[in-house]
Amino acid sequence: MPSGRTHDIVTYALVPPTFILAQWYWGDLLVSAVSTAAMVFAGLMFGPDLDVYSKQYRRWGLLRFLWYPYTAALGHRSRLSHGLVFSTVFRVLYFLVIILLLSTAALYLRQRYLYGAPTTIASEFRQVSEDLMTIWRSTDKQYFRAGFIGLWVGAAAHTVTDVLGSIAKMIWKSF
Ligand SMILES: [Zn+2]
Repeated sequence: MPSGRTHDIVTYALVPPTFILAQWYWGDLLVSAVSTAAMVFAGLMFGPDLDVYSKQYRRWGLLRFLWYPYTAALGHRSRLSHGLVFSTVFRVLYFLVIILLLSTAALYLRQRYLYGAPTTIASEFRQVSEDLMTIWRSTDKQYFRAGFIGLWVGAAAHTVTDVLGSIAKMIWKSF
């Protein structure tokens, strides 16, 4: 398996082509920057290897607990973490659900025990969901699309590197 360092180098090497392609496709500096930043983010810390105690996982620092269920539930190189097509969709959904649940819990505890206000988990959940929907509605969808494609490219580069690494190892062993 290629090391974390190899994956980092591949990620950095992809910065210029990603930006140039994005600029050619969208012709908008900000959108291109968003997609390139998303690609780097996926390559360094939002990628397939979050399914194992890896460089990507460690880079979350104090927030690495957010990925604990993901790491625990998925086997290394499972299709949900390393699959070319759906793994990025799955990771984004997982992350949104975790953020939704934690924000709900934090708001509930704050209202209840800090302010002593009467509230329920359900009403805090509704509030957080509405806030997320507001962000979604008020942001130009172009940025979400560019961001998602960037995340996908970063993760796909990782999976392709893993596959190429395995093939190279197989050829090496057969000599
Ligand atoms: Zn991997």
